[in-house]
Amino acid sequence: MTTITLVQGDITRQSVDAIVNAANSSLLGGGGVDGAIHRRGGPAVLEECRRLRASHYGKGLPTGQAVATTAGALDARWVIHTVGPVWSATEDRSDLLASCYRESLRVADELGARTVAFPAISTGVYRWPMEDAARIATRTVRTTPTSVEEVRFVLFDERAYDVFGRQLG
Ligand code: ADP
Repeated sequence: MTTITLVQGDITRQSVDAIVNAANSSLLGGGGVDGAIHRRGGPAVLEECRRLRASHYGKGLPTGQAVATTAGALDARWVIHTVGPVWSATEDRSDLLASCYRESLRVADELGARTVAFPAISTGVYRWPMEDAARIATRTVRTTPTSVEEVRFVLFDERAYDVFGRQLG
C-alpha cells in the first residue's frame, strides 16, 4: 500500500529517498523547481545531467519520460528528472502529464526508493491549470502499481496545497 501525503513547502527541503524534478528536456536546469533543485543540490547534479545528455539524450529527454541522477547536497539519495508537457488549450496532453508520474514511480521502483516527493509538475512556467493537474497527479499515483511506500506531494503555495487537498479528500 502506498500512502499519499501532502505538504506545503519547498521540495528541496524534504528528506526522502527521491525528489522528483519538473525538469526541461535539456536537463541543463531552468527556473522554478528545477532551478531550486540545482541550486541546493549543487554541481554534482548538473554534472550527471550533462553526462546523461551526452550519452543518451542528445535530443533532450522526451516529454513524459523520467531519469535519475544523484541528489548531490540535497537530503535525498536521488533526483528523478521528468519533463512535463506545456499546457495546451487545443490539444489534450493529459496522458503525457500522467506519464511523468507513472515513469517517475517506475524509476523510483528500479532504484528501490521508498519515499518519493513530487512537485505539481507543469503547473508553473508550463501553465497547466492547478485543478486539472492535481486531478491527474492524484489519480495517476493512486492507480499506478508501485513499491514506493510514501508519495509526498510538495506544494509551494497555500492555494496549490488546498487544491491537492480537495482531490485527496
Ligand atoms: P513546470 O515547468 O513543470 O511548470 P515549474 O518549476 O515552473 O515547472 O513549476 C511547477 C510547480 O512547482 C509550480 O506550481 C511552482 O509553484 C512549484 N514550485 C516552484 N518552486 C518550488 C519548490 N522549491 N518546491 C516545491 N514546488 C515549487
